Amino acid sequence: MENVVIIGTGCAGLTAAIYTARANLRPLVLTGVMPGGLLTTTSTVENFPGFPEGIDGFELMTRMQAQAEKFGAQVKFGTVESVDLSKKPIRLMVDGEAVETQTLIIASGAGHRHLGVPGEHELEKKGVTYCATCDGALPMFRNQPLVVVGGGDSACEEANYLTRFSSEVYLIHRRDTLRASRIMADRTLANPKIKPVWDSVVTAVDDVAAGKVTGVRLKNLKTGAETRLGCAGVFVAIGHLPNSQLFQGQLALDEAGYFVLGRGMGTSVPGVFVAGDCADSVYRQAITAAGMGCAAAIEAERYLAGLCG
Ligand code: NAP
Repeated sequence: MENVVIIGTGCAGLTAAIYTARANLRPLVLTGVMPGGLLTTTSTVENFPGFPEGIDGFELMTRMQAQAEKFGAQVKFGTVESVDLSKKPIRLMVDGEAVETQTLIIASGAGHRHLGVPGEHELEKKGVTYCATCDGALPMFRNQPLVVVGGGDSACEEANYLTRFSSEVYLIHRRDTLRASRIMADRTLANPKIKPVWDSVVTAVDDVAAGKVTGVRLKNLKTGAETRLGCAGVFVAIGHLPNSQLFQGQLALDEAGYFVLGRGMGTSVPGVFVAGDCADSVYRQAITAAGMGCAAAIEAERYLAGLCG
């Protein structure tokens, strides 16, 4: 039986792994389908303390994993299929194998929110994408007009990144002010290759019949005007949805699906802790996720010490 199982290898999960490993608990750390979490899809992380020049997101996560493994964490590629929190030990099914553990730290992160408009799903990977750093350099996007949807830091980051490859980037936002941080918003609006399209939403992505993106249909929310904008790619950056579906009915979730945090990163089930983006609808930063992972690890350690006497 494991002392600690950690679900997720983003900033929260790997920080929890570093702390529990240093406490000699040999945590089992399950990667899920995206080892390293969402940060691996970011370009330069400029605001993680200790890296004044910035650090590549993938490199930061690779280093965190190496640090956890150095202290004895067992990082395993695996997806959790089901969890039974109703009795002790806690039981998980991981790729068809049963795993038992005394404590569980859920750091399952968040996935990309989708637009839910016609053409989006059908043209995914055929011009519709959720990650500029993963897909931006593909030949189909080179020297072509591209669309980024969203007004937050992610959308601005994606738009700026895409200017390296595209002829121009249209930033479609449903309001007329960006939600992004000031520094990111200023950088974006100052970029001559980025053309904001305010007060507008994408109502459909063309062209499913052609099997590739040829444009988007837009609706101006203030005037009601409907237009079409030609483009070769649509980069959707409208926020995230917490990965908590597995725990529905077993742990308290808010209406958006985020875990409801109890005292000391705890949940309604003793020995089960949550950390990172799956439990944070407010800050969602690499450093806050790491801090939550650290706190969850300390609490798991205390819980285990309490079991021993
Ligand atoms: P976000 O801040 O929640 O922004 C989502 C954006 O998408 C908002 O502008 C929102 O519009 C828009 N949106 C949401 N649903 C929509 C829909 N159905 N249709 C059209 N537009 C929609 O998400 P994020 O940009 O991914 O950022 C998440 C967190 O990560 C933030 O805390 C951010 O600061 C952080 N982050 C930081 C960095 C960095 O520091 N380098 C980079 C990326 C992300 P409204 O504005 O109207 O709500």
